[in-house]
Amino acid sequence: MILKLVNPKFKIYPQINKKVLIQGSAIFILVVSVLVIIGWLFKIRMLLSIVPGAPTMKFNTALSFLIVGTIIFLYLKKKKSSMVITLLSIFLCSVSIFTLFPYFFELSFNIDNLIVSDRYSRKFPGRMSIATTICFLVFSTASLGKLSKVKSFQKISDLLVLGIGIVSLQVIVTYILQILAKSSVLVFNSMAIHTAILFLLISIAFSAMSSKGGYTYLLYENHTGSKLARTLVPFVIMLPICLSFLLLFVLNNEWITTDVSISLYTIAYTVLSLLYLYHLTNRLNKADIKKKQLESSLYNTNQELMQFKYALDKSSIVMINDPRGIIEYVNDKFCEISKFTREEILGKSEKVLRSGHHSKNFHRKMYETISNGEVWLGGVKKMDKYGVYYWVQTAVIPFKNKSGDIYQYLTIGQDITRHKWLSSQYENLKLKTKEMEQFTYIASHDLQEPLRTVKGMSNILQQEYSNKLDKDGNACLEYITSATDRMSHLIKALLDYSRIGIHQKREKIDCNEVIDIVCKDLAIIIKETKTVITVDPLPTLLVYPMEFRLLLQNLVSNAIKFRQENKTPKIHIGSEKKDKIILFSVKDNGIGIEKKHKRIIFAIFKRLHSLDEFEGTGIGLAHSEKIVHLHGGEIWVDSKLGEGSTFYFTIPLI
Ligand code: ADP
Repeated sequence: MILKLVNPKFKIYPQINKKVLIQGSAIFILVVSVLVIIGWLFKIRMLLSIVPGAPTMKFNTALSFLIVGTIIFLYLKKKKSSMVITLLSIFLCSVSIFTLFPYFFELSFNIDNLIVSDRYSRKFPGRMSIATTICFLVFSTASLGKLSKVKSFQKISDLLVLGIGIVSLQVIVTYILQILAKSSVLVFNSMAIHTAILFLLISIAFSAMSSKGGYTYLLYENHTGSKLARTLVPFVIMLPICLSFLLLFVLNNEWITTDVSISLYTIAYTVLSLLYLYHLTNRLNKADIKKKQLESSLYNTNQELMQFKYALDKSSIVMINDPRGIIEYVNDKFCEISKFTREEILGKSEKVLRSGHHSKNFHRKMYETISNGEVWLGGVKKMDKYGVYYWVQTAVIPFKNKSGDIYQYLTIGQDITRHKWLSSQYENLKLKTKEMEQFTYIASHDLQEPLRTVKGMSNILQQEYSNKLDKDGNACLEYITSATDRMSHLIKALLDYSRIGIHQKREKIDCNEVIDIVCKDLAIIIKETKTVITVDPLPTLLVYPMEFRLLLQNLVSNAIKFRQENKTPKIHIGSEKKDKIILFSVKDNGIGIEKKHKRIIFAIFKRLHSLDEFEGTGIGLAHSEKIVHLHGGEIWVDSKLGEGSTFYFTIPLI
């Protein structure tokens, strides 16, 4: 299961940054108004009316735009000063009213040429056009309405701004058609083209400032409809303008008749609209396909994540805490182990789980690691709600945000309390075994001395006093001698057992050579019993030489010793390499072992037969097991009574 990362960002539609749009518009308005003011002060005609012969932007208009630009900027500020905006709006409103007055009444306030005199305009020099003045009046009212907390005033303000937009668009369209098609149709023939453009920008910027009330708000949303609208709006506006321009152009030049040109217009409009629609549909479909692919990929990823989470929750303790250590999330396993409910633990510091077992230095080092953005791994002793300790094998993973700051730590842990207990028990056991071995060594070593004395004394008795003792006395002496001999053997065997592995070093030895030595050592009995020994090619291994030889000797001599009376003993020694171990086998055709005795025969002094049947001390297999364990391997037997046995043992390769 592989998690695929999905990048859901695919840009098919144009994006609009609202803040940049508003700021850009305000800057543009300020720059244009300043340029026009310069144009008036230094008499640069071109700056006043961009289209030759067209109306100029009046000095008062430019000044008013300067105020409007400032108002928009003030609105953009986080802590906007309503007072200044109100004052500026009232001032703008007054200028508009004073300008409008002379259009309808005899009374004039002479503000048209107050700062500079207009020698370019024939009709009402220096005076803003009625359309311009009304637009400023409407804007100042809209600005005051926007400041108000009354919702209906804000709505009216949005409508007024829309009005400015329609008027200015109308003027711009008329200009384009009139200039390019050289038509004489003029509705707002007294408003300058740049005045109209600035009003359109004001309308758009102001509308963008109202969150949901502005007529443009739909354009800025991040939904499919708004994205589509952003693509469509320029087309919807530009297509009729371009076509109308062409229509007027051919009409003015009288190339075709009105009827034909109108039908051509209709056809062109329909065809171009359909083509654009086709193009858009295509794009939409592609976007939809991509979206569906992403959705399915996201679904799959989600499924995988859910499975991972399920597995994690089932197997591990999971906790999430913030950089201060406050616990934000825990899973069911956590609650099960810590005995805390979610309600009790969430919002608490992770310190409530500390057991006090670890030093301050331990916690400091852990914190240093994770706060450096590295993963911390280790075992931690914790304390549950009722003060019971538990051990957790922990991984603490820091999570960083885009700017590289750690915003949370994820802790995943495994309850290892039982492992810890077992390993401490294991350590205890190892200690006890060592003590036992030491005891066995000391005991068997020290027992030899008094035994030797008993043996010596019974020998003296036998040699010097046997004629003074009667038959029963001599028989008793015999028993004492043979019992002490046997005890001496047993003690020696114990001593040998406790000495296995002491002060030894591993050496590289050829197992084939070891078998040769063993066969030579057992040559007499092999010859006597006519034992047939076959051996597979054996490997060269790093082993404890003395012990390894003893192991093979024990197994081979047992195989001969426990032969069937009427059968020639056959022994096969084999080896097999399995992964990182060598599996040895010693197979015989002897008396075999009952299933229930398969384990017990490896215990010290454990024998299945009496001394009359088979001689021995019963320590050979205990020796063998200890030697195999010394090498890190295992030993066992596979056998059937009366059919023979196979002793297996493994030696790990190092
Ligand atoms: P010992 O050989 O001195 O009796 P061991 O520890 O070597 O002691 O063996 C323990 C017992 O396991 C033996 O007494 C015997 O009963 C049984 N045993 C060991 N090897 C074999 C074998 N190859 N076949 C049958 N029995 C065996």
